Amino acid sequence: MTLKSKAAVVTGSTSGIGLAIARALAKEGASVVLNGFGSADDIENARAAIEREYGVKAIYSPADMSKPDEIAAMIRLAEETFGSVDILVNNAGIQFVSPIEDFPVEKWDQIIAINLSSAFHAIRAVVPGMKARGWGRIINTASAHSLVASPFKAAYVAAKHGIAGLTKTTALEVATHGITVNCISPGYVWTPLVEKQIPDTMKARGLSKEQVINDVLLEAQPTKQFVTVDQVAALALFLCSDAASQMTGANLSMDGGWTAK
Ligand code: NAD
Repeated sequence: MTLKSKAAVVTGSTSGIGLAIARALAKEGASVVLNGFGSADDIENARAAIEREYGVKAIYSPADMSKPDEIAAMIRLAEETFGSVDILVNNAGIQFVSPIEDFPVEKWDQIIAINLSSAFHAIRAVVPGMKARGWGRIINTASAHSLVASPFKAAYVAAKHGIAGLTKTTALEVATHGITVNCISPGYVWTPLVEKQIPDTMKARGLSKEQVINDVLLEAQPTKQFVTVDQVAALALFLCSDAASQMTGANLSMDGGWTAK
C-alpha cells in the first residue's frame, strides 16, 4: 500500500493512539497534520521525527477540538498546505470519572464537545473536498465504550455511543462517492488518557491502584492484556487500503475480547 499522494489530518495526535496512527500513515507516504496539546518541544520533536524518518511533510495545528472555528481553521490549513484532506482521523478525546450525581456539567459539555461534536465539525468540513475528488477515508476513534458501558463514565460512554451513530449515518450519506467512514473501538490501551483516570477510579470504586489495573481494566479484557497503540494504528492503516474499500459504517472492535462477553 502507498499513501504517497494523500494528506491526512489526525486529531489528538500529540500522544498515544493518535500519534501512532499519524506515524503509521506517514510511514506509508501520507503527509500529515498533527494536532493536540503538549509541550512545544515534544510536539516539534514528534513532527520533525515524522519528516526525518519517513520523508513526508508534517505540520502541526494547535486547534482546540472543543472549538468549531478552530476545527474549521485546521481543515483550511491542511487544504491550503497539501491541496486536500484525503484521510481524516477523528481521534482527540478526554476522559472523566465521577458518579453521575457529582458529574460536573462543564465536564459533560467538554467531553461531548471534544469526543463527539469535534468529529461532526471536522467531517462536515472535509466531505465536500472528498466528494469532489471521489475518494476519502474517515476513521473515528470510538471505544469499547461505544458498545458497552462502565459506571462513572457518563459523558464518555454517551459520546462514544454517539460517535458510533455518527459513523453509521455519515457512511450511508457518502457511500457512492468513494468515501468510507468507520470507527475503531479499542479496549484499554495504556496511554496518558487511561493513566490519568486511575486516581478517580480508585476514589469512585474504593480500590487501590493495583486493583484498578488488574480487577477493572485488565479484568474487562479476556486476553488480560492491554491493546497497544501500534495495533490500533495497524487497523487504521488497513481502513485506508484498497482492500477495505467495501468496509464502511463498521464499528471495529480491538478490545482483547471485552465486548464479546
Ligand atoms: P491520549 O491522552 O494519549 O491522547 C489524547 C489526544 O487528544 C492528545 O493528543 C491530546 O492532546 C488530544 N486532545 C485532548 N483534548 C484536546 C482538545 N481539546 N483539542 C485537541 N486535542 C485534544 O489518549 P489516547 O488513549 O491515545 O486517546 C485517543 C483516543 O482513543 C480518544 O478518543 C480515546 O477516547 C480513545 N480511546 C482510548 C482508549 C484507551 O484505553 N487509551 C480506549 C478506547 C478509546
